[in-house]
Amino acid sequence: MNCKELAYMLADYFDGSMDPRLREELDAHLAMCEPCMVFTKTYQAVSDKTRLLRRHIEYEIPPEVRKRLEKFVHAAALKYPEKIREYRDQVERDRRGKIADLVSAAAAGRLSSAIALLMESHCAACPECGEYFDSLRKTGTPPSVDPPDGIRAHVITLMQTLPPGEEFFLA
Ligand SMILES: [Zn+2]
Ligand SMILES: [Zn+2]
Repeated sequence: MNCKELAYMLADYFDGSMDPRLREELDAHLAMCEPCMVFTKTYQAVSDKTRLLRRHIEYEIPPEVRKRLEKFVHAAALKYPEKIREYRDQVERDRRGKIADLVSAAAAGRLSSAIALLMESHCAACPECGEYFDSLRKTGTPPSVDPPDGIRAHVITLMQTLPPGEEFFLA
C-alpha cells in the first residue's frame, strides 16, 4: 500500500468496516511512514469533531426528516461492499499496469537508478527474480503475460519501498 491508497482508505479504517487484510497492510504502512502517521492522527481528530457535530445536529431534526435520512443511510450502507470491491479492483488494475511498465522498462534497460539498485540487490539474493530479469534483459522485449505470482509479489514489495512520487523508469 502506498501513501495515496492509505489516504483514500482512512474513512473505512476508522469506522471499523475495513477488510482485515487491508487493515493489516495499512497498519504496516503506518508503522514505517511518519507522514502518514501524522496525517492519520489529524484525520482522526477532525472526524471525531465532525461526528460530535453531527450528533448535535441530529437532535434538532424533525422525526419525518430523520426517517428519510435513515432510509438514505441504510441504502448507502448496502452499496458499501460494492464500493470496496470497486476500489480494490481499481488498485489491482493500477498495480498490474505499474508492474507491466516496470517489466518493460527493465527489459529495455531503462529503469531509474533508485529502482535499478533495489532490483539489483534483490535479484542477487533471489534466484527466482534474478533468472526472470536476466532473461528479460537478454531478450530485450517484455513478455506478453504477467510475471509469475512469486515474482509479482516481490516486485510489488520493491515498488512499495520507493519513496512516494519516485518514478521507476527513465523518460
Ligand atoms: Zn505513507
Ligand atoms: Zn524475488
